[in-house]
Amino acid sequence: HAKVNGRNQVCFFAASMTRELVRKKEIEAELRAALARDELSIFFQPIVDLETGRIRTFEALVRWFHPEKGELRPDEFIPVAEETGVIITLGNWITAQAARACAQWPEDVTVAVNLSPLQIRASGAALGILQALREANLSPSRLELEVTESLFLDDNQNTARFIKELSEQGVRFALDDFGTGYSSLGYINKFPFKKIKVDRSFVSGPNIGVKSDAIIRAVAEMGSTLEMDIVAEGLETIDQVRAVREAGCTLGQGYYFSRAVPDYLAAMLLAQERNEDDSDGFAQRLTG
Ligand code: C2E
Ligand code: MG
Ligand code: MG
Ligand code: MG
Repeated sequence: HAKVNGRNQVCFFAASMTRELVRKKEIEAELRAALARDELSIFFQPIVDLETGRIRTFEALVRWFHPEKGELRPDEFIPVAEETGVIITLGNWITAQAARACAQWPEDVTVAVNLSPLQIRASGAALGILQALREANLSPSRLELEVTESLFLDDNQNTARFIKELSEQGVRFALDDFGTGYSSLGYINKFPFKKIKVDRSFVSGPNIGVKSDAIIRAVAEMGSTLEMDIVAEGLETIDQVRAVREAGCTLGQGYYFSRAVPDYLAAMLLAQERNEDDSDGFAQRLTG
């Protein structure tokens, strides 16, 4: 009996592995076609100054509007894009789109782009970013690159060079989803991060309490000493906004302010807050 069970199990695993492989191949082919067919777009989510309520940055978040499957979230296709290498082409396109959108905004507003480790390790990666900036006629100081701790899992020479080269040109780096990975203060010590984004699991959900609050405070304290911005991610309620501001976070991002929106709505949010009569901006909501 054991033998039969064993074999069934092997068959079961083999079948599910094949299915998984087929699904990946499908997504890969579709992703390449989708790029060509214009099914992808970049949405922008505001990152707000918690003192003034003004939008300081928009984070570029990719969306895929699939003709049959509807709207696909990045979590559903970025991992496949990474495994198959499509992320290089896709990532270049995203950076170019984000830079072009930012060039339309007021000069004090920056754009943040998420980068996968694979994009950074690719040869010529830094040059590619600078070229996208040049083509959009955007100053490097208006671009922020968000990287996660997974980037530093292997000590790659290209990674250090990439960060150094672009930092020297004025591009800023943010450490994304801080607290979820192999959080090591070593990365913060070694690389010139201007911003730390505290993961939303410290702001809402089942693990919120005295401990998460103390952790946010400690990170915010470090940020203020090192002159880094500390962003709280995933703010959905005014109470969460008040709590993280009180804990010392300088910036906030989340559905309380806005979801990610298409570029024309991002431009509208900016126009609205720059309008003297604006009575419904984030500033009023924060102070009111
Ligand atoms: P992330 O960089 O941490 O982006 C924040 C994610 O949290 C976004 O999900 C955003 O929509 C979501 N979010 C923002 N505010 C709230 C909130 O108040 N509540 C909740 N529950 N969620 C909130 P999204 O757009 O699905 O992106 C997921 C992840 O996919 C991103 O996490 C990022 O790691 C990755 N990603 C997105 N766009 C790109 C891209 O262009 N390139 C790469 N390499 N990765 C990307
Ligand atoms: Mg991000
Ligand atoms: Mg994040
Ligand atoms: Mg996050």
